[in-house]
Amino acid sequence: MATANNQLDAPMYDPGAWRLTGKQADLTAKARKLGREKFAGRADKWDRDAIFPMENYKDLHKSKLLGICVPSKNGGVGADYMTYMLTAAEIGRYCGTTSLTWNMHVSSCLWTGDLADDLKMTASQRKTHNRRRAIHYKRIVKDGAIYAQPFSEGGAAAAGAAPFGTTATRTDGGWLINGKKIFASLAGSADYYGVLCTEKKQNLSRRDTMYVAVPADAEGVTVVGDWDPLGMRGTVSRNLLFDNVFVSNDEQLMPKGIYFAAATSWPHMFLTLTPTYMGIAQAAYDFTVQYLRGEAPGTPPVKRRMYPTKQLAVANMHMMLEQTKAVWFQAISEAGPNPSKEQVLRAYTAQYSVMENSNELCRMAIRTCGGQSMLKSLPLERLYRDSRCGALMLPWTAEICQDRLGREALYDRGEEDE
Ligand SMILES: Cc1cc2nc3c(=O)[nH]c(=O)nc-3n(C[C@H](O)[C@H](O)[C@H](O)COP(=O)(O)OP(=O)(O)OC[C@H]3O[C@@H](n4cnc5c(N)ncnc54)[C@H](O)[C@@H]3O)c2cc1C
Repeated sequence: MATANNQLDAPMYDPGAWRLTGKQADLTAKARKLGREKFAGRADKWDRDAIFPMENYKDLHKSKLLGICVPSKNGGVGADYMTYMLTAAEIGRYCGTTSLTWNMHVSSCLWTGDLADDLKMTASQRKTHNRRRAIHYKRIVKDGAIYAQPFSEGGAAAAGAAPFGTTATRTDGGWLINGKKIFASLAGSADYYGVLCTEKKQNLSRRDTMYVAVPADAEGVTVVGDWDPLGMRGTVSRNLLFDNVFVSNDEQLMPKGIYFAAATSWPHMFLTLTPTYMGIAQAAYDFTVQYLRGEAPGTPPVKRRMYPTKQLAVANMHMMLEQTKAVWFQAISEAGPNPSKEQVLRAYTAQYSVMENSNELCRMAIRTCGGQSMLKSLPLERLYRDSRCGALMLPWTAEICQDRLGREALYDRGEEDE
């Protein structure tokens, strides 16, 4: 597992052992090379000053990874959900901020691409959707446009328990968007904000959720508040205000009503925040092995591997990592529309395990490697702080996963006690 400084790390999922497709093997290798050679060395810069990693996005565009989930017929790489997830985990090993923000961007292609293809639409909805998404994909592939995914509002909407308070009101040729989003990663750096909002009617309903691309430079869009958090500092997740922002009809990323159907029938989409943290878990383990062997870059060549307590700790870390990787791999490999109850319960388990165990593995890494390992000159300290954020991310926070898992395991849909 440990490698010399100038060599690439071993794949997280060995293509032969895990039976990856050729495309999965190629893309994960490409991501690992980019991560190791470019992103790892820059990660400290984004973290220290809470700066968005724009330089990395230029590399993602150059290597075609910005369009990873844009269909091939639209000039993209045409990767499916699982291929994207595996690729993002490799990037997460080297820069959590880049992997997490890249997820917000790629999600705009997954919702509108593979997921939308699986959903029922009328012929006219399908035709309009295909025309509109082509505009959106061209921006990404040709111009390197970056999309954000500001859903959270501070209330119950991001957890799926209430309609979004941000509204879209019909007007000539398009819509007027009004509202506020919190924790909007890529704020001030994205070219488009993929906003979830509710069509304004007398009573707001989740069924009327709309998914709209708001150009970042549109009149009425403001980025407010500061961003000085514990971890994932380079995501620059500041707040967004929308004050009567006009967007044309063609900025609808999905036909009206289709986002609600997608979110309901494709629950695995909410696992897309996990690859970043799966990568962090692997990085914490890799660092520990390298450090105890006296081979971690930037540290003196002192071996500590001969102590039985260190060996026991590494054994425990290895088991936790393998268990997490296994349940995550199974969950992402069975993602699709209308999963069975068992598959949904496994998806909650995978989400919970990745988010909690990545932080636990970082904690164990620092505990085992010792004081010198948590200096800011080494990546472990950043991994530890970044890993803390995973369990907090809506809509599937660790708490919400536990809550749903227990309830849905004990009650079938619609079942109640006397
Ligand atoms: C680094 C980072 C980047 C982020 N980027 C984005 C982004 O790009 N776009 C975006 O939309 N959001 C983003 N988020 C926001 C995130 O999903 C949350 O909205 C944010 O952390 C604020 O949530 P809160 O914990 O204050 O929420 P609260 O609503 O105060 O919830 C607190 C906790 O209560 C529990 N809870 C909440 N609602 C329910 C419920 N209905 N049922 C049961 N339990 C519940 C959950 O466990 C939750 O963690 C990001 C968050 C982080 C940490």
